[in-house]
Amino acid sequence: MSNFLVLGTDTDAGKTTFALLWLARFAERYHYWKPVESGQSDSVQVARLVPGAMVYPPCQRFAEPVAPPLAARREGKAVACAADIVQARPAVPASVSLLIESFGGPFSPLNERESQLALLVALRENAVLVGSSALGAVGRTLQAVAALRAEWHTPAAVVLMGPRDEYALEAIRQHEPDLPVFALTPPMEWTAENVRRAAEEQAAELEALRAALDAQDRPFTESPEAILDGDRRSVWHPYTSLRDPDPPLPIVAAQDEFLALADGRTLIDGIASWWTILHGHLYPPLMQELRAASRQVDHVLFAGATHPWGVELAGLLLESLGWAGGRVFYSDNGSTAVEVALKMAYQFWCHRGEPGRTRFVGFEHAYHGDTFGAMAVSRDPVFFGRFEPLLLKADILPLDPERLDEHLHVMRGQVAAVILEPLVQGAGGMRMHTPETLHRIVEVAHRNDVLFIADEVMTGMGRTGTLWAHRAADVRPDLVCAAKTLAGGVLSLAATLAAPHVVAAWETDDRTRTFFHGHSFTAHPLACALAVRNLRLLTPECLQAPRRMAAFWNEALAPLREHPRVKDVRVCGSIGAVELDVPGGYLAEASRQLRAECLRRGVLLRPLGAVLYALPPFGTSLASLARIADAMAAAVRSLGE
Ligand code: PMP
Repeated sequence: MSNFLVLGTDTDAGKTTFALLWLARFAERYHYWKPVESGQSDSVQVARLVPGAMVYPPCQRFAEPVAPPLAARREGKAVACAADIVQARPAVPASVSLLIESFGGPFSPLNERESQLALLVALRENAVLVGSSALGAVGRTLQAVAALRAEWHTPAAVVLMGPRDEYALEAIRQHEPDLPVFALTPPMEWTAENVRRAAEEQAAELEALRAALDAQDRPFTESPEAILDGDRRSVWHPYTSLRDPDPPLPIVAAQDEFLALADGRTLIDGIASWWTILHGHLYPPLMQELRAASRQVDHVLFAGATHPWGVELAGLLLESLGWAGGRVFYSDNGSTAVEVALKMAYQFWCHRGEPGRTRFVGFEHAYHGDTFGAMAVSRDPVFFGRFEPLLLKADILPLDPERLDEHLHVMRGQVAAVILEPLVQGAGGMRMHTPETLHRIVEVAHRNDVLFIADEVMTGMGRTGTLWAHRAADVRPDLVCAAKTLAGGVLSLAATLAAPHVVAAWETDDRTRTFFHGHSFTAHPLACALAVRNLRLLTPECLQAPRRMAAFWNEALAPLREHPRVKDVRVCGSIGAVELDVPGGYLAEASRQLRAECLRRGVLLRPLGAVLYALPPFGTSLASLARIADAMAAAVRSLGE
């Protein structure tokens, strides 16, 4: 049972009559709200004809009986925008839902800029489409359904108001077999008693409609137990022991910074779903973009073919780095973006006549992914020790420019590239280094004639407060890897960006010098469309969000420094981390306890061993940030002194 918006196929389709019958039957479970009214008040009418119904006052009322935007204009006012109307939505008790009535048809103007549809989009509720059963009902209804569907909004149900017309019902069902269709007849006279009686006589139809709406409330109707049971039997999760006693969280929906679980819990997604979600779940501009692009294309090949979304994105990415003459190589995940960069770096030297440059340099506590090349430059003993005999040649150094200098000197002519996560080594424990250190590392690599790869898979798209983390150090990498947040986290997309001087090494007619690499899902057009929109959203103003978050973490996490179990508190952009003094490294037992403690407080965090950190989406409210910080503090306290 949840809120729904009543849309009409047209003005006077019978929306208020439907609302009257519905409330007469379900007044205890549904309250009525018509946010914008003009002329005679439907809210007053509903309160009069269903005396037991709870009717909330509209947020705007205009006197003249014409379309509200016109009535408003004549009063020198304007109808509020959809987002503001949603903000004004009355708070109802948990056991109650709202029937929200719109005016006009789905495409009637809501105000000077938006249509009623904008209200539906902003509300994110089901819609019930009400139409008159008078002559033309079939065409009118199918037309409205088709128009809504073109905007990605199939109504949850259709109700024909008026004398019951079996032919119309049959015809609509034939053409829209998946759409629940109902018929209701208005009362003979407009009195409370007649409304009550009409609702009683049509109780079966109203109950059937309610069941149809309830069935659509939750796209996954399975119980949490059934989901977990099926999961236990057949799913193998990443980085999770098959004998892991912690059951996975059965997530059935996500919105803004929240995750909805099948068991009714709501959690704050404190780590932005593995650092992917940038603005928030179902972020309207991105979802709009996805809808728009998916009307035109799904997936198409990218070898010997191209598409405008991939081209535009490549242009924007290169522009963001000032790399005219550079190139963007697309793939679909962070590990592959790194793999591509490593292969490019080696092949670059081959083309330059130095095939002996077969080694790479990575740094302690790095994580670059789990394909073989990426594992080799991460070399985490817990994650990848098992595969050590299979890995390519890479040396792992402490993050120290002088040590790097010595090493590159000794290994002269053997190293293809140095790879580093700029400013924050993420999976290695949110270890942060200064822009100065980064600057010196890049300077040392270049002075020793070695390429520098910036792995911005986690830090890219503003996580640390600048569009690219390496920008804070004013360095010029030779290759840059982006993934996770590139398409706002909505779809999987990765890119390896090559600087102009790197690309120049491939300027040859020799076909054997092609870069032989590519995946089925290269430059997914929908993901590229999202990424274009995402990049355009990342204005200096938008990038204030991670900076504001940094200020928040600095203040909120500071008191934890005093706790005897806290070794360090670190902040960079949207990332706030607390390193604890507990035994066990990545597999620390305390990690499980910290996670459980946060979950109990409605916050999802996944500690990296002894490091408890948060990295929420940019749109996370101050109240949610405070809840995350409180949960972190409580989790730390739960370890005792
Ligand atoms: N590089 C960095 C810096 C990462 O943090 C990660 C993932 N955590 C990767 C590469 C690998 O990305 P993916 O999981 O998309 O393969």
